[in-house]
Amino acid sequence: MPKQRKKSDLPTKTCACCGLPFTWRKKWEKVWDEVKYCSDRCRRAKAKP
Ligand SMILES: [Zn+2]
Repeated sequence: MPKQRKKSDLPTKTCACCGLPFTWRKKWEKVWDEVKYCSDRCRRAKAKP
């Protein structure tokens, strides 16, 4: 009996801005290796000094 894939099986990363863990999302499937921030908001916040 094959195990069903659970949501918890999705890869996770830690946001480089706010430090919170975030989970793989469909919109990141092609750029997951490059994703460093949990949201556009964090990405923009980090871009500013
Ligand atoms: Zn963040």
